[in-house]
Amino acid sequence: MVTAIEPLLREQLIDRRHKLEDAASAFHRPAELARLLKEVDAALLRMDTGVYGLCEVCHEPVETERLIADPLTRFCLGDLTPSEQRALEEDLELASQIQTGLLPPRTQHIDGWEVFYHYQPAGAVSGDYCDLIKGEDQSVHFVLGDVSGKGVAASMLMAHLNAMFRTLISINLPLEQMVERASRVFCESTLPTQYATLVCGRANTNGEVELCNAGHLPPLLIQEGKVISIAATGLPVGVFCSESFAVNRVRMNKGDSLFLYTDGFSESLDGAGKEFGTDRLSSLLNDNHNLSPEAIISLCRTELHTFTEGRLPGDDLTLMAITRTK
Ligand SMILES: [Zn+2]
Repeated sequence: MVTAIEPLLREQLIDRRHKLEDAASAFHRPAELARLLKEVDAALLRMDTGVYGLCEVCHEPVETERLIADPLTRFCLGDLTPSEQRALEEDLELASQIQTGLLPPRTQHIDGWEVFYHYQPAGAVSGDYCDLIKGEDQSVHFVLGDVSGKGVAASMLMAHLNAMFRTLISINLPLEQMVERASRVFCESTLPTQYATLVCGRANTNGEVELCNAGHLPPLLIQEGKVISIAATGLPVGVFCSESFAVNRVRMNKGDSLFLYTDGFSESLDGAGKEFGTDRLSSLLNDNHNLSPEAIISLCRTELHTFTEGRLPGDDLTLMAITRTK
């Protein structure tokens, strides 16, 4: 049952009832008004009789996020009518198009750097955040992150991160301050259970790369025949409203690459339920030096496809490679 959110939804329904009554004099369609009031009263009655939030067909709980979006929901996703299903599919298709529109160009060449990424939602939309923004000084800002949860709710938070970082990057703050501000806004504007792990970096024209890692999987630096893992410098963003972050600096030379990924990659499972794992990833990158960013991503995807025997990942997956070209 949805006991935790039920008091809140009850308040919303009562509020909605008052608004409908207030609007009655200005309402030109009394039949429509009566129908809406009846629906609200029926939901309140379901709360009183302890069956609120249960699907009227299968009697299993309705998905909580759908009740929050519409407290009048009476059927679980599996038991929608064909027209409701079509409406939902159209909504998701539109959401997916909007999310795709938020992504940067797939490949970028910016003064001494080449970047390529692969973004693959597990469903219609993804909770991963991936961005590439050129700074006024020709530096490249890159962000790769993973929002808690999956599906539509996570994709809304992804869009929130996108808007925040696009704004923060444009005012050219030091990296740690940028992530601190993003974390504060994210914390203040989301539910307590929501957070995001992310790596925010800046590749400068002189070959220096700054990295601020908020609880995300360590980026891998492929350099001089070695693969070096660069550990996190802070907690995920949005966990506490006043977090502070530190920055790691690395120097990259021609041919060196930096590889970033979300857990949809490293935690993919084979047929026996074993994880792909970070060790397998490190040795794969160690055996294949001097590849272009696109070739690195392609190699990783091929290896994952073989490992999972072609099964699609159950989680959102994002890969990014950044190579120094001069
Ligand atoms: Zn059902």
